Amino acid sequence: MTDRQVLISLIAQRLNTGLNHPGDPARNIPARPIALPFGKTAGMSEEMSELVSNSVTMIAEAIVYLIETDGATELIPREEARAMRDAVSEGVPEGPFVPLLCRCDRKRERPLAMLTMNSTEAIIIDGPTLLRGLRKRKIECPHEMVQS
Ligand SMILES: [Zn+2]
Repeated sequence: MTDRQVLISLIAQRLNTGLNHPGDPARNIPARPIALPFGKTAGMSEEMSELVSNSVTMIAEAIVYLIETDGATELIPREEARAMRDAVSEGVPEGPFVPLLCRCDRKRERPLAMLTMNSTEAIIIDGPTLLRGLRKRKIECPHEMVQS
């Protein structure tokens, strides 16, 4: 099964069993399940059940198609998207450099360190180099260099 088919079958299954609405924490509305009229009921004939199942699959295919066409959105599994972002950031060997500043340095003239933004997910630094550099400064603002 392709990722697209996995998604279609997940949507179809949830149309059948009920969807979860995420709610809206900002408005204090909790998440809740939404019951849909596509589930199997006790007295449903085999024929009717198959008809409902086929309809649910067609609706799921139509939703995915809508997202990909009018929605102009590519459906990429999270792990694949993460790997692509990492590959793009690894293609940039150095920089951009971003100064690490204390809030006392309002003119932004005395960075405590320069960090290399090599990923959108995390800033990976050489710990010993950063810590050695910071240890050479006074803790109190404005963090002048101390003689070692
Ligand atoms: Zn400071």
